[in-house]
Amino acid sequence: MNHDSSRYNVIIAGGGPAGSTAGYLLSRAGLRVLIIDKSAFPRGKLCGGLITYKTVKLLERVFGETATSLKEKNIINYESFCYEIFNRQTLIAQRTMKFPFMFVDRKRYDHYFLEKARDAGAGLVEGDGVMSLDVLKSAVTTVSGRKFTADVIIGADGVNSRIRRSFPVDLFGRDDWTGNIAAALEIFPRRETIKKQINHTILYFGFIDWGYAWIFPDRERLKIGICALKKRNKKKMLTAFRNFLSAIDFPDAQEEKIFSYVLPYGSFLPSPAFRNVMLLGDAAGFADPLLGEGIFYAQRSAELASQAILEVMENRRGIKKTRDASADIYLKLLQKHICPELVYAEKFRRVTFTYLNKFNYYPMKIMMGILGNKLVETVHGIRSYNWMKKMGEH
Ligand SMILES: Cc1cc2nc3c(=O)[nH]c(=O)nc-3n(C[C@H](O)[C@H](O)[C@H](O)COP(=O)(O)OP(=O)(O)OC[C@H]3O[C@@H](n4cnc5c(N)ncnc54)[C@H](O)[C@@H]3O)c2cc1C
Repeated sequence: MNHDSSRYNVIIAGGGPAGSTAGYLLSRAGLRVLIIDKSAFPRGKLCGGLITYKTVKLLERVFGETATSLKEKNIINYESFCYEIFNRQTLIAQRTMKFPFMFVDRKRYDHYFLEKARDAGAGLVEGDGVMSLDVLKSAVTTVSGRKFTADVIIGADGVNSRIRRSFPVDLFGRDDWTGNIAAALEIFPRRETIKKQINHTILYFGFIDWGYAWIFPDRERLKIGICALKKRNKKKMLTAFRNFLSAIDFPDAQEEKIFSYVLPYGSFLPSPAFRNVMLLGDAAGFADPLLGEGIFYAQRSAELASQAILEVMENRRGIKKTRDASADIYLKLLQKHICPELVYAEKFRRVTFTYLNKFNYYPMKIMMGILGNKLVETVHGIRSYNWMKKMGEH
């Protein structure tokens, strides 16, 4: 490969929701962008696939796609207006929402938005991951030995980000990254293989410390999972998951293959940029510390990073200044639009899992009664975890 074809304005490691969204926005604006992903798409990603109102609004704003258009393309394949919350087998709340939870299959969802980035002009290297980053030369080398350079490097390469691990994590304002990582287990029984059919969203507390279990509906399958802080549940996850499956009376699900992965769970980095390198989505730990919702935060951080890069470009400060200036703007945008909400959610989680846990979640029932639908509106992004105040536009 000659020098010119390996030089880009922006290199993005990772083509998941964060990488594809940044790739789409930056390519559409005319930048020379390369997305590098270790997997060939369509590829699976362990996930519950639940998206909220704030994500649907983002997809509309960024990609011009509505819930209706995404349903027509089978990207959104299910929606549930009803949800239940249990403490073990005891029902705590059962409600109907104005806005439904929507469900996506990550293989289709991620592939669809990556294709959007490609159509907008982004170059794509698939099946060849980023192996190393040379910060001084602003260059990445792939596993197969290909070398690419760029003015800005984006790490959208997920929770185990190679780009993030090129730096000491305390450089990004946090030294307890691993202490706030959750382990997750999930099964995906096909509807025709199980007797019990569920068509709404169910969350279960009480089966695991500092975490929860779920049943999410999908058109063809159920997604049944559990996630919790790793440090609080050493070696207990599998037992807890099996106990959960027995308790909710899913005997036929016991035979399903169990998948496992990790997710950021309160480990968000307050300052995930250094020089011309920016981290997005899971690479920066941007997932809701209470429920682990990360698709929205991946795409929202990508939108903010793209805004920062384009702002510097449009002000014609020149490509050299784009580097550090855009990282500074990105950090300011994060402080305004993402970090405060994650901090409030983390506080809310601490109350939920410490104080309420002591009392076997009975106060949760009272709290749910008092809050009504305010908590679910908070999850949807209509309200803030900051005393459930109404939010402005995301
Ligand atoms: C069990 C489970 C359930 C979840 N359920 C939900 C849910 O219901 N709703 C929700 O909103 N969130 C959920 N999440 C969180 C959500 O999956 C993530 O927050 C989201 O995928 C983050 O998107 P991302 O683009 O940052 O990273 P990813 O989606 O992880 O994408 C990262 C990409 O980087 C690539 N990559 C990795 N390493 C390299 C490398 N070295 N070089 C190049 N490419 C690389 C990967 O192949 C991947 O394509 C769940 C997570 C888990 C584990």
